[in-house]
Amino acid sequence: MKKVITVIPGDGIGKEVVEGALHVLNAVAKKFGHTFEYKHALAGGAALDATGIPLPEETLSLARASDAVLLGAVGGPKWDVNPQHLKPERALLGLRKELGLYANIRPAKIYSALVDASSLKKEIVDGVDIIVVRELTGGLYFGKPSGFETRNGEQVGFNTMIYSESEVRRIAVSAFEIARKRKKRLCSVDKANVLETSQLWRKIVLEVARQYPDIELSHMYVDNCSMQLIRNPKQFDVIVTENLFGDILSDEAAMLTGSIGMLASASLGGTVAMYEPVHGSAPDIAGQNKANPIATIASVAMMLKYSFDLGAEADAIELAIETVLSKGYRTGDIYTEGMTLLGTKEMTEKIIAFI
Ligand code: NAD
Repeated sequence: MKKVITVIPGDGIGKEVVEGALHVLNAVAKKFGHTFEYKHALAGGAALDATGIPLPEETLSLARASDAVLLGAVGGPKWDVNPQHLKPERALLGLRKELGLYANIRPAKIYSALVDASSLKKEIVDGVDIIVVRELTGGLYFGKPSGFETRNGEQVGFNTMIYSESEVRRIAVSAFEIARKRKKRLCSVDKANVLETSQLWRKIVLEVARQYPDIELSHMYVDNCSMQLIRNPKQFDVIVTENLFGDILSDEAAMLTGSIGMLASASLGGTVAMYEPVHGSAPDIAGQNKANPIATIASVAMMLKYSFDLGAEADAIELAIETVLSKGYRTGDIYTEGMTLLGTKEMTEKIIAFI
């Protein structure tokens, strides 16, 4: 199989973890007889430095013309003072919007070798396997109007939370379809006791549910869900929620598994899907060979599975990650006493060796 992948390393540790993931993809290509062609593109701070804007048209054209997009992370203190439209993070929002990626899939699965790395008790987290389906192109992050004004002699900042029926319906369908391939349980998270957007959300999710009588649907308020994720995470299988709630809950689910450096994600919906680790550019450890590359390597496994339908190849990566962890190899973020501490490059090499 031959596939073209647009590769956007971005900033900070993005460059390091993407380099590792590409080495892993090359190892998979060699073992299984595929050809992956990489087209490197700029986004975020790297693009701002080179072109003056966070998401150049050339990057979008490359992305649209490829079979999948791999992104590292964007952002860093250097660009934090930039005005809103010139912040590196605008590139992420732009890519999602332009590629029509409305469904963000974030698995939070605990690797048994890492049960002790979680800040929660072993019996609470052992066996946790959750997928958070987050709506990605609507809600508070995109709603208009937004901005700053002076009202009654003082500054105000404002955003608009808005959802249309069709936006809710398509993300609900994505979530029900995922639930159908798993344990057939879906929990829709909202704040319907307070927000009109949530009341519409719940109404549409209930409508869509009529086409999925085999799926057990439940509803939970977001504040309760944030508690339940800590109290008894094993009650969840698939969670579907809107953009802002999903942003926060998926990071919380992430920490059940020990480190944000372990978490992969896929953004689907358009013709070209995008794969990226959940973490950011981690300026505090950038350029020091300390970053955990597993989140990005696992994102590449999701790419193989979801975009290229290469299940065996994805499984080979997953198994290699599990093997490396069970043999006690760790990057700093998941290190515990008695384990073998590795850098980004060395961890990547170990995973490749087990592929
Ligand atoms: P972050 O995820 O970059 O870092 C949070 C903490 O987790 C840091 O202590 C970091 O060292 C650690 N960490 C993150 N990934 C790691 C990895 N792979 N291995 C080991 N440790 C890891 O979040 P932040 O500090 O809030 O944000 C830093 C920058 O990244 C900001 O500019 C932010 O806007 C940006 N950001 C980008 C994305 C993205 O590109 N998708 C996501 C979140 C944040």
